[in-house]
Amino acid sequence: MRYQHMFVLFEHDDGNVLNVSYEMLGEARRLMDGFNRRYALNEKVIAILLGHNVRELAYRAIDAGADAVILADHEELRYPRVNLYTKVICSIVRDRMLVKQAEPSTSDEYVKPRYMLFGADSIGRHISATVLAELESGLASDVNKLVIDDVMITHQYKTNGKPELYRQVLFMYRPDFSGFLWTQILCLDNKNPTIAREYSPQACSVIPGVFEPLQQHDGDARKRVEEGYARIVEYKPEFSNDDLKYRIVSRQIVRDEIGLEDSRVVVAFGRGIKDDPEGNIRMIEEFANLLGAKVAISLPLSKQPFNVSSTLKEKYFIPARVVGSSGKKVAPKLYIAIGISGAMHHLAGMKESDTVIAINPDPDAPIKDESDIFIQGRLEDVLPILIESIRGSEREVRG
Ligand SMILES: Cc1cc2nc3c(=O)[nH]c(=O)nc-3n(C[C@H](O)[C@H](O)[C@H](O)COP(=O)(O)OP(=O)(O)OC[C@H]3O[C@@H](n4cnc5c(N)ncnc54)[C@H](O)[C@@H]3O)c2cc1C
Repeated sequence: MRYQHMFVLFEHDDGNVLNVSYEMLGEARRLMDGFNRRYALNEKVIAILLGHNVRELAYRAIDAGADAVILADHEELRYPRVNLYTKVICSIVRDRMLVKQAEPSTSDEYVKPRYMLFGADSIGRHISATVLAELESGLASDVNKLVIDDVMITHQYKTNGKPELYRQVLFMYRPDFSGFLWTQILCLDNKNPTIAREYSPQACSVIPGVFEPLQQHDGDARKRVEEGYARIVEYKPEFSNDDLKYRIVSRQIVRDEIGLEDSRVVVAFGRGIKDDPEGNIRMIEEFANLLGAKVAISLPLSKQPFNVSSTLKEKYFIPARVVGSSGKKVAPKLYIAIGISGAMHHLAGMKESDTVIAINPDPDAPIKDESDIFIQGRLEDVLPILIESIRGSEREVRG
């Protein structure tokens, strides 16, 4: 078998494991357990772990669902660098002997992974693209549902117009058009003899926060490794001068001045401000000030879709205020979503909030399902009432 196993990039930030790594391994475990049962195979979930002094994390990957971990521990891998990470990951997954150490039943014909998962975050989005280009296959980005199934396809080019059965296809679903449409992405071999070509691995980046991690069992992983039920295999990377032509000499996490992540109350607005962008932003600003809240936006607003005064544009339509998979992840006590539909990408950034209130006239807006309180109405009608009621309470308190 030329293509085997599901490989997952186990992401961490200098030793701090990112939740998406646990989520991907949980999903990989569920998918491959189902796959092995259905096809009577014995393919594995293999985590790829790169970093420096991170051997301990290999046990966490095993606890989180990996059958084996291939570990590349090197000082040059402490922080992700696209060229080095791409080179090391591609070398690992192409190295049949190494993959055989991770799973001895791997076929002698093994060439590349069957499936690969990366996180759809700032690390995984870059690296998935360069790795898949190097491995000469396709990539579905920002996926939020995965299914393995067989499918009959008739396609002018792929199958020369004839029906062909594709087996063990990874159906990769991603939300598009604000989450109102699901696109299904398949990475299929060309079975047309005139342009025959195989496309493996079938790979994607996964939106953080959408899959459930497995329940972790502290200590089990060590025992499983000792007893040979799970494996940690080391890969020794070698770098040329060319690989190291640029280096990270110091690294600082720069916090922006907005500080959304530290705020107990966040008021976020989206394209629902459209009917009076200037007036609505001013009203939202007043509302946020009364609550002592920080103001956030949905991604489209950072592209400056509305004509407002330059003061508001420069203050609010900026990437530092975006909440979601491409922006900040926040977990305030209270998150108020005004004129935001609740697309999957946005939810990924705020679903850890304690209490969510949404103001939206559309009773079918997906944000409704994420809300503790859904106020069905236009912000132009609802906000003045809320502002007046807060002012009224303040007056009462002052007495
Ligand atoms: C790869 C990728 C990454 C992405 N990352 C992010 C991300 O990090 N963060 C993010 O936010 N998005 C992200 N997106 C975009 C995301 O998919 C949605 O398109 C976006 O979140 C929609 O923004 P919205 O809710 O403001 O607008 P819309 O979806 O247009 O929703 C506007 C809402 O306003 C409501 N409304 C209309 N009139 C009023 C009114 N008068 N008062 C109150 N409500 C009103 C409507 O009913 C509607 O529900 C990403 C997309 C992709 C493809």
